[in-house]
Amino acid sequence: MDTITIDTLMEKIKSGDKTYDIDKIMRAYDLADAAHEGQMRSSGEKYITHPLSVASILLDYCMDTDTICAALMHDVVEDTDVTLDEIRKKFGEDVALMVDGVTKIGQVPLNTKEEQQAENIRKILMAMSKDIRVIIIKLADRLHNMRTLYARPPEKQRKTSLETMNFYAPIAHRLGMSDVKEEMESIAIHYLDPYGCREIERLLDIHKVERDSFIDSIIEKIRSRITDIKPEPIISGRVKSIFSIYKKMYVKNKPFDEIYDIYAVRIIVQSVIECYNVLGVIHDLFSPIPYRFKDYIATPKPNRYQSLHTTVIGKEGTPFEVQIRTVEMHNTAQYGIAAHWKYKAGLKGSVAGEKRFDWIRELLERQQEADDVEQIADAIKNDLAQDEVFVFSPKGDVFTLPLGANVIDFAYAIHTEVGNKMTGAKVGGRMVPFDYQVKTGDIVEIFTSGSPNYGPNRNWLEIAKTTEAKGKIRSWFKKERREENIVCGREELEREFRRNGIPLSEEVISQAAERAHLDSIDDFYAAIGYGGVSMSKVIQRIKEEQLRVQREQNAVVPTAEENIEETNRRSRQKGIIIEGVDNCMIKFAQCCNPLPGDPIIGFVTRGFGVSIHKQDCVNVINNMDSENSDRWIKASWAGVDDSTYRATIDIVAEQKSSVIADITAVIAANRIPLHEMNMHRLKNGNVNFLITIEIAGVEQLANVMLRLKKIPGVVSAERTGKA
Ligand code: MN
Repeated sequence: MDTITIDTLMEKIKSGDKTYDIDKIMRAYDLADAAHEGQMRSSGEKYITHPLSVASILLDYCMDTDTICAALMHDVVEDTDVTLDEIRKKFGEDVALMVDGVTKIGQVPLNTKEEQQAENIRKILMAMSKDIRVIIIKLADRLHNMRTLYARPPEKQRKTSLETMNFYAPIAHRLGMSDVKEEMESIAIHYLDPYGCREIERLLDIHKVERDSFIDSIIEKIRSRITDIKPEPIISGRVKSIFSIYKKMYVKNKPFDEIYDIYAVRIIVQSVIECYNVLGVIHDLFSPIPYRFKDYIATPKPNRYQSLHTTVIGKEGTPFEVQIRTVEMHNTAQYGIAAHWKYKAGLKGSVAGEKRFDWIRELLERQQEADDVEQIADAIKNDLAQDEVFVFSPKGDVFTLPLGANVIDFAYAIHTEVGNKMTGAKVGGRMVPFDYQVKTGDIVEIFTSGSPNYGPNRNWLEIAKTTEAKGKIRSWFKKERREENIVCGREELEREFRRNGIPLSEEVISQAAERAHLDSIDDFYAAIGYGGVSMSKVIQRIKEEQLRVQREQNAVVPTAEENIEETNRRSRQKGIIIEGVDNCMIKFAQCCNPLPGDPIIGFVTRGFGVSIHKQDCVNVINNMDSENSDRWIKASWAGVDDSTYRATIDIVAEQKSSVIADITAVIAANRIPLHEMNMHRLKNGNVNFLITIEIAGVEQLANVMLRLKKIPGVVSAERTGKA
């Protein structure tokens, strides 16, 4: 990247069509330049290049003069002798407030303990709700720091990347700044899981040439069919971001070739009616995949994103996504909230009254009421989650709920009293059960009881999905129904004890109450009754305690191995034991695709689980001594296990019609599921088969290979690294 100077920044200002107070910007630069004199970035460049770069990013978004000034001076109060008062005197209140806001966000220690995360986000949001430009500067600041992260030590790279992934990218997403979000995520994931990313890049690379011509041919096909639309629509194609592929592969566990939307084609037109016309043409040209059409024009996303999305399949059998939108929608999609500055007059400092920032205000209010840090952290995680539905009240008010929410959640979202008094609900004019999951576009009508004694049902606690509704139901029971809670709690405890074979002794119960920090057994029953204490946790603790006592009585000291066995019981996902790590997410590296029985090793991807490689994988051998050496961790197979694994076998055979039948016969005879089979002719006349099968372990694989090699006409059969 070229080093930016004040001259290049000024050129950029002058070449744009927006008017700036150049003198004011120059003064801000002079102050920052003098203040940072002598300071260096880790990259070895002068410090001033950083604020200059941040200002330059903000210029791309056409932010106003004051924002550019604040960006240039955003680090001076924290890192130099310049005071906020001085900035206030020379540049005015707005600039000073922005510098102060950015400084304060920078001082919030992020990425620490769970209970602090909530408080951190609250502080960030507080700063945002005063002046949204503060967070836009902070996002630009973080973006530039991510771009230059290569110059930082590995420990810092990980910490910063995790913070970016957990806080800044979700905030950029909520503000609709998708370019910023995507760039942040794709840089961060490279530091968090370098090998996982390299695998994806390798997979993308394999088909680069075909892919490029594939995308070109689609664009050509579309273009030739919509020649009558003037001015000509802008059509572009691309591979979706590595992080979006990453999420599908590793978080949703889909194999690379089953990911539908690796390719996306975007069509930008002038009017909404043209969007729907083009959609018709697309569905005529290619076959649409059912349930993959989404109309975000009629129902925009919470961050105001609008587009038509559809996934279709071309003649070649490769699915791809098509996004159709107007120029204005495209601007909003790219720049989000910042589009206000770029395409409109700008936004007044305060966000109060702006409907789209309601979620910020609600979050702040809810947090002041909440009394349990765990619940706050939960609430925020839910609030920052991307999957949401929009539901309407009969009056047309919109409510945003997490995906999977039901009518109980909706009732409590309207008002606590509506929730507590709910007797039933209608969706689209029909009565629905309480666990009816609301969908975007549903019009939901809630019926309530007028009786003062009416209240929620206890099993609503199981049905409700949102933290908010659960909390409100719990607090109703806590307040209104102590006697009933005690009875219910005792019944539940007795039932669960019986089910788990735990003796109903006063001693065991009072110990459990004590551990839950409750003074009396009645309080303990009541807490179980209203859901404040989870019975499953209580049972788990008692069982652990019993196990400990039993061990002591038997006077058998567990060996070190047994201890590891115990702590790792819960991390036996997919039949893998990770030494010393409890209950973590596990995925298999696709570079070497280990099978049960292979000697393996884990790589801790910090925040994205442990990836399992074969010990002789090239990635392992090449990176054992690198700066990441401390992230390799012992891993082993957890013995008997009924999961299966994918293995790909590369077979070369003579061109004989019987060979395919023989190969499939061997696989069928071994009762092995065949996942995929590809063949192509080699130049020498032989045929190459790539077959992917589901296998239970190396022994079974060895057996199959042996049989495959014995088929008449088979020249060779090798196991490949590919999934
Ligand atoms: Mn900075």
